[in-house]
Amino acid sequence: MPARRAGDASDMFGNLEILPPDPILGVTAAFRRDRDPDKVDLGVGVYRDEYGNTPVPGAVRAAEQAVLSEQTTKVYVGPAGNLEFNERIVALALGPLAPQLKERIAAIQTVGGCGALRMGAELLHAAAPDAVVHVSDPTWANHEPLLGNSGIALQRYPYYEPSTRSVAFDQMLGHLERLPPGAVVLLHGCCHNPTGVDLVPAQWDAVADVLERRGLVPFVDLAYQGFGDDLDTDAAGLRLLARRLPTLLLAISCSKNFGLYRERAGAFAVVAENAATARAIATHQARIGRRMYSMPPDHGAAIAARVLSDATLYRAWADEVAAMVARMKQLRSLLAGRLGARRPDLDFSWLTRQKGMFSLLGLAPAAIGALCNEEHVYMPPDGRINLAGVSDTNVDRVADAIVRVIERS
Ligand code: PMP
Repeated sequence: MPARRAGDASDMFGNLEILPPDPILGVTAAFRRDRDPDKVDLGVGVYRDEYGNTPVPGAVRAAEQAVLSEQTTKVYVGPAGNLEFNERIVALALGPLAPQLKERIAAIQTVGGCGALRMGAELLHAAAPDAVVHVSDPTWANHEPLLGNSGIALQRYPYYEPSTRSVAFDQMLGHLERLPPGAVVLLHGCCHNPTGVDLVPAQWDAVADVLERRGLVPFVDLAYQGFGDDLDTDAAGLRLLARRLPTLLLAISCSKNFGLYRERAGAFAVVAENAATARAIATHQARIGRRMYSMPPDHGAAIAARVLSDATLYRAWADEVAAMVARMKQLRSLLAGRLGARRPDLDFSWLTRQKGMFSLLGLAPAAIGALCNEEHVYMPPDGRINLAGVSDTNVDRVADAIVRVIERS
């Protein structure tokens, strides 16, 4: 090996240390290493069917085949990506409001929902470098690194009350009431990750009141539309804010509801105060994308656009999303029922009230550690479980394990 000198270009990366593994990926790795035949993975962040697969919905497959058979070129699409996708995915989110707001919307296709969140943070940083984004406490583990790496400052607002397993609404509102005008508030559109606890319509109203009165800006992360109740109900909070507030930022992911995870399909949109501002924003969005990755990948967006533009495919897809949510609701009841049967003195009904794939078990770190290491039931250290990992076959095992660690702690 040639000798290295300080400052030698060949040693450029020699000072980098190996980073600790991502806590969620660490859980996946530990699960894989475990030889127990009855091990259960409740840690993953993806939907699973009763066979443990993460399927591509039939309508999405059909759309993909149509896209492939009709596509004659792979030439670049452009910095804003697939324009039809942008329009249709924003219309899916905003529903009947979309035509009304059309002139005020600047939308760009992004690299999944993560790309949308980052695009939003970069735009904020470019337009208002001193703005602070307030995220819920707790929030999805990637929100802070993803948004914060743009240089924008982050703070947390109270969101979850572990003792009642519900929204700490008074504290949340109290925090918002004290924010200066121009502060940005990141809200989960539905299926809050990791708590499963969503705002109810009256709470969305009260949040809209404060945002309006204090001149605050909502940034809605819509990663699970259709996974809480249905496609429209899950977007009701977002639509209420879009109706009432002059400016709104929106990050959309097609990973879960379209099952397009690895295709990285998503969009970022701003509903701006007026059409002129929207036009200016569109140029900045394009520049931000161009400077980071030039253009987004087309395939996933083309597929989603196809589903959304074909009435038959759309209906089939909406039915498939409804079947996924029905299954998650059924698994929530199943697990709550099995836990309740073992410990009728404890209340597990919160599991059935929460929305989407995730809930927090609310056990001490040692109990979560015991679930993973002794009971072979895996989840990240915060105790977030993915209900889609529960099945008819493993539910008794999971319930036994949870009850055993509760009784031991
Ligand atoms: N927001 C939240 C709350 C999420 O849970 C996810 C996916 N795990 C995303 C955004 C973005 O997902 P993706 O980049 O895979 O579309």
